Amino acid sequence: MKIKINENYKSLKESYLFSEIAKRVNAYVKENPDKKVIRLGIGDVTLPLPKTATDAMQKAVQEMTEKATFRGYAPEYGYDFIREAISKRYKKFNVEIESQEVFVSDGAKSDVGNIVDILGDNKILIPNPVYPVYLDSNIMSGRKVEFLEANIDNQFLPMPPKTREEGLIIYLCSPNNPTGAVYNFEQLKKWVQFARQTGSLIIFDAAYESFIVGEYPHSIYEIDGAKECAIEVCSFSKMAGFTGTRCAWMVVPKALESSGTSLNKLWARRQATKFNGVPYMVQRGAEAVLTEQGEKECNKLIAYYMQNAKVLADLFTKKGIYFTGGISSPYIWLKCPKGMSSWEFFDYLLQNAQIVGTPGAGFGSAGESYFRLSSFGDKDLTVEAAARLDNLL
Ligand code: PLP
Repeated sequence: MKIKINENYKSLKESYLFSEIAKRVNAYVKENPDKKVIRLGIGDVTLPLPKTATDAMQKAVQEMTEKATFRGYAPEYGYDFIREAISKRYKKFNVEIESQEVFVSDGAKSDVGNIVDILGDNKILIPNPVYPVYLDSNIMSGRKVEFLEANIDNQFLPMPPKTREEGLIIYLCSPNNPTGAVYNFEQLKKWVQFARQTGSLIIFDAAYESFIVGEYPHSIYEIDGAKECAIEVCSFSKMAGFTGTRCAWMVVPKALESSGTSLNKLWARRQATKFNGVPYMVQRGAEAVLTEQGEKECNKLIAYYMQNAKVLADLFTKKGIYFTGGISSPYIWLKCPKGMSSWEFFDYLLQNAQIVGTPGAGFGSAGESYFRLSSFGDKDLTVEAAARLDNLL
């Protein structure tokens, strides 16, 4: 063909993390068919959906069988019932969000990937290590990215740089994937101040907000002034087991504007053009998750995972191995022992304890010599993994 392709894609690093993990695990299993491998690498949930959600979805399916209650295209921004339920949810954090500021989508991944559509050629600040979608989606659109290094010294919570450059786009993820680190009120206040002083935009990913324990902001809008400088993304994926069901939302406040242009209007235009809404059944399921009963059931799922996190966290505490996360996050981010690199430790764990985790280097260069374990696995297997780690480390 003679067409020009998007050359920016050539600048993407090969996303070999999970395929390389699968390759090494498959090779090991082939050579050692009698060994039981425990997988603590995945960031996917394993427990079934809350009953309240599946009941609501079944009812919605039934409605689709009757002419009187059948629904076709869903509104691009979400049905009013769910936009209102999400807006009401923010009241829990003493935050006022109008339902027209909420845009329902098929995933936080889509939202953080698509938001670049409405942004021009700004300088981008991205934590390192972090969820890789922020970086890759900006590389795809040819943006200039600078990293905010997260390390032991800043407890994996990078703070604003000294620069007085203006008009930056800043990605923050709290609780963080992969480090599990959570910004407190003071820290987030500094970010909001920085963004306002420099006329910058924060894209705040709160996908793990429902795992927070203690006095930490669940939403960036708990910080005064954030509505003038921040977009927030949140998801039903980890909160309610919707990873395969697909429903999330993005808040684009009406107060967000640059050079007289409303970001809320731009995003509405973008979604109306390129998105045709989330299935009715899924939105009814998500709406049910936000009821009192739904929330109770979600809290049970989260408690199950967090018990797994505790089992792992207790073990690393006992062993004196440095880690973050595991309290307000389903991830444990640990320093590889004995000076091992991320991939050396991966092989060491697989060979000697038949445990699969995720090498930290896969989340950015600053993740080298760290390792992520997930608490989304089975309870008994997690306990067994902890016993194996106790023997090995
Ligand atoms: N944001 C973060 C930080 C994540 O870790 C993930 C998934 O692992 C997502 C967003 C994607 O969420 P969703 O399933 O809603 O696309």
